[in-house]
Amino acid sequence: MSRRSNPFLHTVRCALVAATLLAFDDTDSPDGMCTTYLAVLMLRALSRYDLLGLPRLVRLNPNVPWKTRGNAAICLPLGRGVGVHRQCGAVEGTPIAYFDRGTPADPKAVLKVAEEVLEREAEFGCDNTNPGIVCTRCRPPQTLYWQAVRGIVTLGAVESQLTDCGADWKKYKNGRGVIGAASAASWRPRDRTWEVIAYRDAALVGTPRDIDTESVIAMDQGTSYTFNNYDYETHHIAIAPASPCPVLYGIRGDSPEELLKARTMIRGEAPASWLLFLTNQGTDDHIVRRRIGELSSGQSACVQARVIRPPRTIAGGHVILGITDGSEIDAAFYEPSGSLRAAARRLIPGDHIVVHGSIRDEPRSINVEKMQILHLTDRWMKSANPTCPDCDKRMGSLGAGQGYRCKICGKLAPESSAERVIVPREVARGWYEPTVASRRHLYKPIRRMPRGDVNSLL
Ligand SMILES: [Zn+2]
Repeated sequence: MSRRSNPFLHTVRCALVAATLLAFDDTDSPDGMCTTYLAVLMLRALSRYDLLGLPRLVRLNPNVPWKTRGNAAICLPLGRGVGVHRQCGAVEGTPIAYFDRGTPADPKAVLKVAEEVLEREAEFGCDNTNPGIVCTRCRPPQTLYWQAVRGIVTLGAVESQLTDCGADWKKYKNGRGVIGAASAASWRPRDRTWEVIAYRDAALVGTPRDIDTESVIAMDQGTSYTFNNYDYETHHIAIAPASPCPVLYGIRGDSPEELLKARTMIRGEAPASWLLFLTNQGTDDHIVRRRIGELSSGQSACVQARVIRPPRTIAGGHVILGITDGSEIDAAFYEPSGSLRAAARRLIPGDHIVVHGSIRDEPRSINVEKMQILHLTDRWMKSANPTCPDCDKRMGSLGAGQGYRCKICGKLAPESSAERVIVPREVARGWYEPTVASRRHLYKPIRRMPRGDVNSLL
């Protein structure tokens, strides 16, 4: 019996949801459109429908070779809302609200409008831009999300699941965007954060952004649940992107209510539109816990290991550390990871650490994006030659590593008999992370990490 004709399998694999999910991906290019801004344009064009829940911004595997910028996909739950509604954005002065519940929209009608918007706005000229739209009443199985955030998913596998769900979809060019779109639709948050994104007036896109630095610092210090706002090490405003896209800034945090307040604290250029997203950013969903021997290229992994070779600094200031958990790998700490790299430089063989990072094949290494020092081994230094037990005098050295001999009676003593003292370590146990500016979208900041044992992480 084929999978498609088995109704029981169908019900366990995907879930009917109380909204029509419109998801799209891969519409941007390195120097133009931003997929999140397309969400604003879609909502404007689909204003006859209501949002049934917040718009979702879903980041997928940061190691896929063909990603455009941040590998972001969007999912909008659409229908006719009933009951309480709350504001979650504004498009050129017109408020956007979302409802907690309602009745789903007609997927075919939604898809038709979405196609028109996407065909008008996507950066089709970029080789790497391969848009896709999915419209479905049935949420694809969440295993799809986990595969897409941690590994590589093929278009064929996705289309087969979309067929199971009875979804409608549209591919452009090589159609790869359908993978991200379907994966975003399949996301059921285990952990989640929010981001409020402000967009620029179309006439200003491409010009330098005017954001008042002092107001960003005041917002960072005046809010409790926001993160990645300002980089105090490099004096960099982390809420503003570097690319010439329509985004003015994005503020991330753990409280949607606080983000709405944080938005009003930023001074400078007035945004033309803004939108609050539910996201998987800052969750470490891309990280899998593995033993070193199981690591494969393109993965983002967490490994617990012991340092076996002292740190060495290579060209560019990068630090390489040999680690083992039975199998060996090099842990690479790249510029500009600041205090993380400085901590790595102070480790010695015997220390126990946990590292998170992406796996590279040539040369085989884990490019560390976060480190926890679990245990620091004692560092000993020789303080004096041993004393002869018979003569009570200091013995003489026979040369490096050769041991000792008493100058009076000739008695021999091994190298290990020297008197030693413990030297204080210049690094402490705990978590170390890169500068705010060099963190990936999915990177979970240490302030979001649970306290206690690493085992509670995964
Ligand atoms: Zn002696």
